[in-house]
Amino acid sequence: MKCQKNRSLLFFCKRMFCVVFFIAPWSLIWSQNRPQKPKLVVGIVVDQMRYDYLAVFSEKYSEGGFKKLISKGFSCDSNYLNYVPTHTAPGHAGIYTGALPAQHGIISNYWYDTSIHKAVYCVSDDSVEPVGTGSKADRSSPKRLLVPTLGDANREQTNMEGKTISISIKNRAAVLSGGKNANAAYWFRGKDQGHWITSSYYMKSLPQWVKDFNDSERLDGYMNLWEPLYPLETYTESRPDNSLFERGFSKKDKPVFPYDIKKLASRNGGYDVIKSTPYGNSYTLDFAAAALQGEQLGSGDATDFLLISLSSTDYIGHNFGVNSKEVEDTYIRLDRDLAMFLEALDEQVGKDNYVLFLTSDHGATENPQHLKEQGRGGGYFKEATFIIELKDYLSKVYGSSKIIEHIALNQVYLNKEVLAMLELSTSEVEKTIQQYILKQPQISTAVTRTQLLQREFSEGLEVLIQNGFHPDRSGDIAYLLEPSVVVYSKTGSDHGSGYDHDTHVPLLFYGAGIVSGSSKRLTSSVDIVSTLAAILGIQPPAAASGKTIHEALE
Ligand code: ZN
Ligand code: ZN
Repeated sequence: MKCQKNRSLLFFCKRMFCVVFFIAPWSLIWSQNRPQKPKLVVGIVVDQMRYDYLAVFSEKYSEGGFKKLISKGFSCDSNYLNYVPTHTAPGHAGIYTGALPAQHGIISNYWYDTSIHKAVYCVSDDSVEPVGTGSKADRSSPKRLLVPTLGDANREQTNMEGKTISISIKNRAAVLSGGKNANAAYWFRGKDQGHWITSSYYMKSLPQWVKDFNDSERLDGYMNLWEPLYPLETYTESRPDNSLFERGFSKKDKPVFPYDIKKLASRNGGYDVIKSTPYGNSYTLDFAAAALQGEQLGSGDATDFLLISLSSTDYIGHNFGVNSKEVEDTYIRLDRDLAMFLEALDEQVGKDNYVLFLTSDHGATENPQHLKEQGRGGGYFKEATFIIELKDYLSKVYGSSKIIEHIALNQVYLNKEVLAMLELSTSEVEKTIQQYILKQPQISTAVTRTQLLQREFSEGLEVLIQNGFHPDRSGDIAYLLEPSVVVYSKTGSDHGSGYDHDTHVPLLFYGAGIVSGSSKRLTSSVDIVSTLAAILGIQPPAAASGKTIHEALE
């Protein structure tokens, strides 16, 4: 028995010798060589940034902004959104959950809720209170987001130590980027306030650093003249400054430089005017830099997340349109702002301590009037006329137009009670409406709920409809318009379709764990979180369906 004990002791000592003299030094060397987990993840979504903007304005970009991200980081040149509609809310939800609207449930910015018979906004929540403002319109939370984000996964896997802070002028972009467990989502309250605010979902009152930022005179510093950064005649990548395709600001005759922002404020929503100038992005990045400091992001043991969405590019695109001088100037200025923000990150967090990605929630179509003038197609779909004619047709066929409850965003919602009363088969009525819609000249395809539930589409626009279809939130017949045909005003640009101009967006990775290079391989925005999770060594969020972009990783 004693002998046995001694032998065990000997074995134990030998084992310890191995551990101390062999395994320990090697593990030390291994841990020294192992790439450090980034201390901070920075997400930048440039709202309405088309892929071609990287190349079109490249001559005027500085060395420290977009060009630095491309030359020192990794560019996925064939990155597409793979669902419709391509709007801001599904864009942000998809990027950060790695899931499709079919899973995350954010099918658009607004959708029709058949249970309450009215439209709902993606982040509205009457059970929370606004914080930092009295405006009831700012009662926002992620309650309608059905699955977790990467920030949520990181919070859970770091015992809630890794922070998630998300920031955007738009509440939907801030709220949906952060997810359910975010420490804070901040968005902008314009009007007479001009402050960064949040809701009681996240906190009871604003932290001191946010109050201090709001009290600073930084925003007033931007309420000056908006003039082009370079002489206007050098902006050869865009059409003439004064064109019929631009909306511009109210109380200004022509949509031309310079814009006196302070003067325009009173007739353009007070401080909201800043949203439609490049300074909305500058102000957002200033606030993000203040968050770095205020929250000491990237200084703890657990990885933090700073998620930024830059909305002014979208407001300006809607207002002035693709190809406008205003859009060109906005990207040139954004490039300078990004360069400064990258410097702030290097200084505060350290060059090798953060990983950053930049992408967009959707692109934009060229103004159809402009396209028409150039003989390049495009047009305007008269939705109101379409609805009247469809209802007339259904009255003739079924004796009632009330079988349609609602039509919006290319979705027809049937009234199930009326169908039951008239003893009509839902799938038959779906088919009748689909056949009618398919005959309309400006419509390229239409799919019924029954088809979407019964079969899996593998190619064509129908795949995009299926990926964007959520059984509890989508309509009964979904249709898509022809390329560059929009339901929009004659001025400015819109988005939402499944065509390249709306779905092809930049995707750049930069920083810790990223190699320099590029790939033409087809990627999708749902691949972003899987790729970041691989760098962080964590599990991607539960519903993430994308694949790791391995070629971008060290
Ligand atoms: Zn957007
Ligand atoms: Zn938009």
